[in-house]
Amino acid sequence: MPQTLQLVLTPQQAVSEKTVLDMAARQLRIGRERIAFSRVVKRSVDARKNPPKVNLTLELFIDDEQKPAEVHFDYPDVTNGKEIVIVGSGPAGLFAALRLMEHGFRPILFERGNNVEERKRDVAQLNRNKGLNPDSNYAFGEGGAGTFSDGKLFTRSKKRGDYNKALQTLVFHGASPEILYEAHPHIGTDRLPRIIENIRKTIESCGGKVHFGKRITAIDIKDGRVCGVRCGDERIEARAVILATGHSSRDIYTMLHKSGVRLEAKPFAMGVRVEHPQELIDRIQYHSLEFRNYLPAAAYTLTAQVGGRGVYSFCMCPGGVIVPALTSSDESVVNGMSSSSRGSRWANSGIVTEIRLDDFGHLRQKYGELAGLRFQQELEQAARANAEDNQTAPAQRLADFVAGRKSLSLPRTSYVPGTVASEINTWLPSFMTEALQGGFRTWGTRMRGFLTNEAQVLGVESRTSSPVRIPRDPVTLQHPEVEFLYPAGEGAGYAGGIISAALDGERIADALAESKLP
Ligand SMILES: Cc1cc2nc3c(=O)[nH]c(=O)nc-3n(C[C@H](O)[C@H](O)[C@H](O)COP(=O)(O)OP(=O)(O)OC[C@H]3O[C@@H](n4cnc5c(N)ncnc54)[C@H](O)[C@@H]3O)c2cc1C
Repeated sequence: MPQTLQLVLTPQQAVSEKTVLDMAARQLRIGRERIAFSRVVKRSVDARKNPPKVNLTLELFIDDEQKPAEVHFDYPDVTNGKEIVIVGSGPAGLFAALRLMEHGFRPILFERGNNVEERKRDVAQLNRNKGLNPDSNYAFGEGGAGTFSDGKLFTRSKKRGDYNKALQTLVFHGASPEILYEAHPHIGTDRLPRIIENIRKTIESCGGKVHFGKRITAIDIKDGRVCGVRCGDERIEARAVILATGHSSRDIYTMLHKSGVRLEAKPFAMGVRVEHPQELIDRIQYHSLEFRNYLPAAAYTLTAQVGGRGVYSFCMCPGGVIVPALTSSDESVVNGMSSSSRGSRWANSGIVTEIRLDDFGHLRQKYGELAGLRFQQELEQAARANAEDNQTAPAQRLADFVAGRKSLSLPRTSYVPGTVASEINTWLPSFMTEALQGGFRTWGTRMRGFLTNEAQVLGVESRTSSPVRIPRDPVTLQHPEVEFLYPAGEGAGYAGGIISAALDGERIADALAESKLP
């Protein structure tokens, strides 16, 4: 059995492997040469203290102790397995496919967007203000919404599936083994596309299929049971359909709504994205810049209650960039991503507030269960109307936003398409403005320097969670009224984030394997 050891280190000590192993050997009272192999099993930074500390948990393999085996998965050949149609190749769709293969099924994926290589070109065009490909962008295309992201792998829903196995699956497909032990693991946008591509290669090499540029436009239902999907005029037979289309796929919700498939409006969250100089966040979180060379770009997590309404930070990207995450050219939607090194000069985060059913009650009569979707769309269109006729985003200095003051100039930004000064506080619904202003005021007192005009807010951060749920039976996980229709992932309203969507995809595959599939 390897020895497990916990060390509390200064940031300088933690970056030197030699120092770490010398300290470990001293603590175990053995010679350094007897440590044949070591691996970190947990690492976290405790920045509450000044100076910050690094907590390391190590496994040490002494003398002839057998080294741990490398992560490996053997997926079976499923060429002759029962075919299952999966719509969408985001984390939910891809992980559903891998798990289906473990059960012996042959996954057939349909993805509206391009493969990752071509998708890189689509997002580059968008950043150059050269137009949006409505089927292939930051939200749509191979790997789904998380392909060009920070790749944070944190989830609150660890109990919903095998979290460690999901991380190991990513390592098997090319992620750094560091994600297995970091307290807040992330992959980075420079590495994610290769991992996604490798998952596709696994699926294809075992007999599965991935079709790109195939936007599913209808689901065929006969006698309350799924029997196929349509891609324009093309009909594809299906004994079961996993619908993993994400929460930006408004055409899918509209199509289901029109076909009479029951949907449910649900509460969600929207707001703005705030951007600070990373150095400012480092100074606040690490108390000085003295240790920054030995520590990762600092992050933060913020929550507040303002007049009974929750306000919180969402998808914080240290050392990141803000990106245009729109799916229609009449919207302005922002989100954040970062590379594995988190090396940019900026820190950004979504700052969002709860949107309750009552907040869009006035739209219920006209739009029914799609009222929240409509409310979200109207805000995105208002944001576009307050910028230019391209991918520029409306922006306002942070202290100005909180004071309800016009910004006469804007600070530099990581947002490549460019920003346009706008009084965001005047065109956001007033309950949102007040909640966000209150949140920023609270955090300004908790984190000195946070509420500053060196920072700015960009609009709008609207795609944090789905405003619609596609209901499912709690046991079979099928739609309660459509047999063998399996709503999955974030778009179905059962997940939020890369890992939780991946785990949901696996759960769906397990439920499908247990069903009485024709
Ligand atoms: C810029 C950005 C950064 C993010 N950063 C993080 C992060 O760091 N950590 C984190 O946990 N989460 C992050 N997220 C959120 C995360 O990406 C999503 O929660 C996750 O991808 C949801 O997975 P999903 O499979 O349910 O849906 P999606 O990833 O949205 O995948 C849905 C897929 O379905 C396809 N599709 C849609 N409609 C159709 C159709 N009609 N026919 C065929 N295909 C269709 C889409 O093209 C897409 O590929 C980020 C999102 C964005 C946009």
